[in-house]
Amino acid sequence: MSFKELGLRAELLQAVTSQGYTTPTPVQTRTIPVILEGHDILAGAQTGTGKTAAFALPLVQMLSNEPARKKKRQPRALVLVPTRELAAQVGSVMQDYSRRVSLRATVIYGGININAQIMRLNRGVDIVVATPGRLLDHASRGTLDLSRVKFLVLDEADRMLDMGFIDDILAVAAFLPDKRQTLLFSATYPVGIKQLAEELLNDPKQIEAAPPNRAADGVNQILYRVERHRKRELLSTLIKKEKWHQVMVFTRTRYGADKLTDQLNADGISAAAIHSSKSQSLRTRTLADFRHGSVQVLVATDVAARGLDIGGLPRVVNYDLPDIVENYVHRIGRTGRAGETGVAISLVCDQEQALLVEIERLLNHKIPVTRLAGFLPASDHDPDIIAAKRKLKEKAAKKQKKNITKSTESRPKPQKTGKPGKPKPTQKKPKKK
Ligand code: AMP
Repeated sequence: MSFKELGLRAELLQAVTSQGYTTPTPVQTRTIPVILEGHDILAGAQTGTGKTAAFALPLVQMLSNEPARKKKRQPRALVLVPTRELAAQVGSVMQDYSRRVSLRATVIYGGININAQIMRLNRGVDIVVATPGRLLDHASRGTLDLSRVKFLVLDEADRMLDMGFIDDILAVAAFLPDKRQTLLFSATYPVGIKQLAEELLNDPKQIEAAPPNRAADGVNQILYRVERHRKRELLSTLIKKEKWHQVMVFTRTRYGADKLTDQLNADGISAAAIHSSKSQSLRTRTLADFRHGSVQVLVATDVAARGLDIGGLPRVVNYDLPDIVENYVHRIGRTGRAGETGVAISLVCDQEQALLVEIERLLNHKIPVTRLAGFLPASDHDPDIIAAKRKLKEKAAKKQKKNITKSTESRPKPQKTGKPGKPKPTQKKPKKK
């Protein structure tokens, strides 16, 4: 199916062509017609599948069919996303499409001065892309009127729940008209998502663009078994030996991200960290440096990395396995986006074994183990070590069995009298005098 067959208007067809898209991705083929028909949707779409365009294109198309108010424009579409980076990213896609049909889109998120946002809102906008907290702030202060919103999109809804945004989302929804079209996108379906869908959606069409909890097909997943204290050394060695020019590395904590960044820089590898304690302007600059190649390694925590789209990113590394196992799928989805291939490498120590088991259960397959000379692990969970130990055990058991048989054979046979025979004294050679 082509974009034209999806029923998009000429300006938007031009937009996708100039973005270099030739055919719609599966999520776009399935969702765009359903959205254009006016249904609510509950879409299971992984990150990197083209889901932004899947809701942005039909939304802009529908809004462009109804002329904006001349006097004071008020937002008619609201897109809620979990992080500032994702807001900026989705916002720029929306702005590109909107501009072509004389609509206005703006981005609202926390961590920056609110006054510039108020001024932009006062000038009038059609589409607002926002993180829930700051949006609620505007709605409560009365600097944003949500009473004319006809379309609500919840992007990466599972992540918003993980980040504790449920109350903010429900509070925002209370400002919206009941009569609206709501689109919910989520990579995974924890119970909270089902409850949220019941609360906010009206007879939704359920669309499964890919089986839930599945990694993208183009991502080759491997893991190294390594002792915890040698992870950094292994990572530096891999980066240098395999000449990785652009790699995103995930750590569990902000402290861990900063520490690893310092260590990599000390190893002569240009690295920068991105996490929620960094200022927004620094995060934006770091991301741009990474995109342009002046930073080789982007060390990130889950919160900061969610939804980031770095085109053509060849590999990601799980320096620590994520505590929330679903995040494994999101993390590795940073690579192998939109049909490209990528590699996802996990450095796993014995202390993370339970998490690995959970991740492999979620994926429904084992992640193949690779090794590097000099980093052969002393891990009880390494399949090769398990096999080697089993072999040793079998060998020992065989040897023991042999010895038993030998010793039974070498025991003197019972004498005819029936008395147990004493072993015959071995004849000693007479000592030479
Ligand atoms: P998303 O899942 O929206 O973050 O998109 C992931 C990546 O796929 C982005 O780099 C998009 O620019 C790209 N993309 C989206 N739709 C298409 C398409 N139809 N063909 C090729 N690339 C696409």
